[in-house]
Amino acid sequence: MWLQVSLLCLSCLSLPSQSQAQDRAVLRRSNDHGGRCHYTFTVASPEESSCSGSSMKPEMDGVLSRLTLLEALVSRLIAGVDGGAGSAGSGVRANGEEGFPEDYSQVTREKNQLQQDKERLNGQVQELQRRLAELSQEAESLRQKPCQQTHTSGGTQYENRPASDPAYDLGKGAYQEMKAELTEVAASRLIPEGNHNFTDKFGVLLMPITGCEALQSVGDPVLHRKADSITGKYGVWLQDPEPQGLLYTNETVWRIDTVGKDVRQLFAYEDMDQLSQGFPMKVMVLPEPMESTGATMFRGSLYYQRKRSRTLIRYDLTSESLASRVELPHAGFHGQHPYSWGGYTDIDLAADEQGLWAIYSTSKAKGAIVISQLDPESLVVKRSWETNIRKNTVANAFMMCGRLYTVASYTAPNTTINYVFDTATGMGGAVAVPFKNKYRYNSMVDYNHAQRKLYAWDNFHMVTYDVRLGRASQGSI
Ligand code: CA
Repeated sequence: MWLQVSLLCLSCLSLPSQSQAQDRAVLRRSNDHGGRCHYTFTVASPEESSCSGSSMKPEMDGVLSRLTLLEALVSRLIAGVDGGAGSAGSGVRANGEEGFPEDYSQVTREKNQLQQDKERLNGQVQELQRRLAELSQEAESLRQKPCQQTHTSGGTQYENRPASDPAYDLGKGAYQEMKAELTEVAASRLIPEGNHNFTDKFGVLLMPITGCEALQSVGDPVLHRKADSITGKYGVWLQDPEPQGLLYTNETVWRIDTVGKDVRQLFAYEDMDQLSQGFPMKVMVLPEPMESTGATMFRGSLYYQRKRSRTLIRYDLTSESLASRVELPHAGFHGQHPYSWGGYTDIDLAADEQGLWAIYSTSKAKGAIVISQLDPESLVVKRSWETNIRKNTVANAFMMCGRLYTVASYTAPNTTINYVFDTATGMGGAVAVPFKNKYRYNSMVDYNHAQRKLYAWDNFHMVTYDVRLGRASQGSI
């Protein structure tokens, strides 16, 4: 506003300088008593012929006000706002009292626009900085990720097969499911050689069972949740039988949908009710992608097989970080020795009353099931057993009291648990405990010794089975 007023004032002063006021303005220059030069500028009042009254204060105030405005105007002219002193006067006169407000408004608009541009650019800079941080983090993660295995290890030769190998070609598919053919095997065919003395003429096991109780029967499946998207056709869901730490309990439910190229999401639910009715309380992203439906939960860690490898991973749930990472020696993977339903179920991990186990096969075992007990901390193999049952003839397996049990079919609605192998005795044989695949596509079976239930994922359906255990007797398992 002061600029506007100063221009008005300048207009007022400039008019007299070109008219009758010219002969009334006098500029005097003289020395005072001290020898200093004084300038005296005298202008006659256009309204008053003589000075009336005795008080000069109103006039002095007016003069001071005008001087202030003049100083401000001179400062503005010196700064070249109007394009230099030479054109300033004519510009002011030409624009008069209406030109400047327009200029001022224009400047104000430009200033506001610049302020908005500045804020917008600041926002873009912050967004770019955030994305840069994310990309840096991802790059660091990729740098730490191991390269795809390309060398043989432990005498196996799967890794160096040519790209035209059918097993490798199948691996290029979008999903882990590799084949889906029903394999019903008669119990009598599953009796290991040399173990016939432990079965009767019907192939029913007569061998002694040592240690903790044996499986007597399996109840009907109880539905807890149906997955609502294609990624949930098969998967893994578990509760930790021996939770550790304060964050999670044996009520916490863990779930992984395993359909997809890059399986990394681990969902945590507070309890069965939340699993059944709501959304997960937490979603974790695993450090490396998962393969198979053979993951298990034990003592505060998720154990799983890394995609396209025989690498076992222990993922600590409390710190949400990779705790152990080791190769399972000689283990087949990615379609070498899956269960009958395929799905790259080469390595099945299990926990029971006696610890952590891996169920798999090797080239040396020629596809027969190998059981290894693992150190839960380091994942190092403590001891191994080789059975006589071919892994691709059974649908799934689980450990209970140090014994391996296999499920005959993953699609038959009424099938059996058809084989047992006791690591305490090193002996196994056929059994026939009824087992139901209610939804006709059972991709995962795991035992939880704390809940005394089997957990299964049957064609989008997450179900449990009550189990009855009892003292081993002739004819039981
Ligand atoms: Ca299993």
